[in-house]
Amino acid sequence: MYSLQKNISLKRFNTFGIGVRAKRLVIAENTHDLDLIFNDLNPEKVLILGGGSNILFTGDVEDMVLKPSIKGIKEIGRDNQNICIRVGAGEVWDGFVAYCVNNDYGGIENLSLIPGSAGAAPMQNIGAYGVEVKEYIEEVEFYHLEKRSYETLKGEECEFGYRSSIFKTKLKGKIVITSVHFSFPVKHEFNLHYSSVKELVDKTGPASLKSIRNAIINIRNSKLPDPSMFGNAGSFFKNPVIEHDMLERIQATFPEIPVYPAPGNLYKIPAAFLIEKAGWKGKREGNVGCYKNQSLILVNYGNATGNEILEFAKKIKTDVENQFGIKLSYEVNIF
Ligand code: FAD
Ligand code: NAP
Repeated sequence: MYSLQKNISLKRFNTFGIGVRAKRLVIAENTHDLDLIFNDLNPEKVLILGGGSNILFTGDVEDMVLKPSIKGIKEIGRDNQNICIRVGAGEVWDGFVAYCVNNDYGGIENLSLIPGSAGAAPMQNIGAYGVEVKEYIEEVEFYHLEKRSYETLKGEECEFGYRSSIFKTKLKGKIVITSVHFSFPVKHEFNLHYSSVKELVDKTGPASLKSIRNAIINIRNSKLPDPSMFGNAGSFFKNPVIEHDMLERIQATFPEIPVYPAPGNLYKIPAAFLIEKAGWKGKREGNVGCYKNQSLILVNYGNATGNEILEFAKKIKTDVENQFGIKLSYEVNIF
């Protein structure tokens, strides 16, 4: 049976640690609970909450907050080429990665230690160290809030893009992802394109799923702020993908800017570089700051409100636009 809590603080339900209140927080353990919730409570609007690691709350939440806590990891198919695994939306993402590494299913080891739930992984097509989750998603199962029906989309129908998908665009706020099917190749090639990962893996001998996972965990622990110490939601901004003309203009002043090829003859440049050059790296205003080791990350140093963080982000955005002519977009979901 689902659980319902009223007038509850969401502080411990979001990694920014913003203490807004929700009128109703409902936790669903399975799809039967979902049916009951929509029959019994008949909510007008719903906000879906996973681990709260990619969310910024800017005020109390009037809508019903629904946390899908659907558990379970199961092998559902296997042939000579692929192994198919279904994972419940409420599983902790990194627990699932650990399960795959321990069972020798290669693919998502580069996505080790990303916070949050498995159900949110397709939302922004989580990515790190040269791997995007879309490469291994076979199918996404979800509940459609308006149609009140269960549906599925094949991976190729999910409109996955750079930190984006149909769930973050057309279907945003309209569906609850209940489980995700992954397909892992029996013969897997390691992805060691990011030099920091390769260097660390090489130090420990021949690459393996475990050595890659360990290297990534070490790098992330040394570089990223721990949300239990400093509230944050990872990268606040997306890396811009720009055209050649724009790149040339920036390179005229900053020839050292790192550049990576992107699909469609475009170029990805690190937003962190632009933010640093605009003078924001390590800067702090009151309770909000731009993290000293990674300028893409905004940090709640105390009791910052969501609006204080958003205002700080807007100033960075304005400065980057004035200096480089590039409009940064937010990666974090703002409510
Ligand atoms: P939430 O923050 O709870 O939700 C995010 C969005 O998804 C919201 O719009 C929410 O409504 C929606 N949502 C959540 N669950 C569901 C569901 N079951 N059905 C429908 N909608 C849903 N991201 C990366 O891509 N790569 C990284 O390397 C990375 N590193 C990070 C490091 C740190 C320290 C932190 C704090 C964050 C990082 N992130 C990274 C961002 C974040 O962890 C991921 O985006 C993660 O997938 C969010 O999962 P969540 O369960 O916390 O989602
Ligand atoms: P980094 O290694 O210092 O690199 C800076 C940026 O350059 C990254 O954003 C990355 O883009 C890009 N990059 C580096 N090497 C690349 C290569 N060989 N090919 C293509 N692009 C390359 O970055 P970092 O901050 O330490 O983060 C490491 C990884 O973890 C990155 O993949 C990053 O996306 C991920 N991460 C994400 C979040 C989040 O909240 N989204 C938070 C922390 C870390 P990409 O970002 O496109 O990979």
